[in-house]
Amino acid sequence: MITVQNLSKVYQNNRAVDDISFTLSSGKCIALLGPNGAGKTTALRMMAGLISPTSGKVELLEEHSGDIRRHIGYLPQHPHFHSWMTGREFLIYAGKLAYLSKKEAASRADQLLTRVGIFEVRNRRISKYSGGMKQRLGIAQALIHKPELLMLDEPVSALDPIGRRDVLDLMEELKKETTILYSTHILNDAEESSDEILLMHEGKIVESGSLSSLKDRHQVDKISLQFE
Ligand code: ATP
Repeated sequence: MITVQNLSKVYQNNRAVDDISFTLSSGKCIALLGPNGAGKTTALRMMAGLISPTSGKVELLEEHSGDIRRHIGYLPQHPHFHSWMTGREFLIYAGKLAYLSKKEAASRADQLLTRVGIFEVRNRRISKYSGGMKQRLGIAQALIHKPELLMLDEPVSALDPIGRRDVLDLMEELKKETTILYSTHILNDAEESSDEILLMHEGKIVESGSLSSLKDRHQVDKISLQFE
């Protein structure tokens, strides 16, 4: 549904992302796997339209039209929540920012709170949420405008084992209805949840395909990835 063509980002003399190209097809869950500093966040931020590329472009395939940002939901690595709000208040607020009416925002908020499994704690302040609950709320916020592509930056890396399991299970559910691209530096997370892997190292996509095909080619072993 989206193509990335020769995308690069250069900061001073640092090629954070170096001429990457790939196509994301609908209905898949793809892991952007690479060690710290590989360029994953920079690549995702360019795709989400948050920073402009030095060169190259990101394009929607023909059947999707209009502003690319309407089609993408993005959860940053360190999402910012208004912690004094309840989860429900926060999602209604996010809905209004996405130009939903008050009534539509409330109904979408309730739908999403159920979808991500935090409806029971909807009236609790976000400051009292666990890490896993916050990530679920962040995913709900990213889904508020019904995007076709959900991009998640390191969605499970900072979570304890229970939160991690919950969020990976949620991603498994969501991929039935949304294309997902998520970044991780942890091999096992990529192995467990993705249909395909884009292996990134020093700004480049060095391999792509299933994890077993990457392992066969010993590419993963060459890069110091974290196993947990
Ligand atoms: P991490 O998981 O540690 O965030 P990453 O794979 O997401 O790693 P990026 O955050 O995209 O990697 O960083 C890639 C490179 O670009 C790093 O060398 C980083 O220092 C550099 N970089 C990222 N953002 C900026 C910036 N705003 N200004 C200058 N350099 C930057």
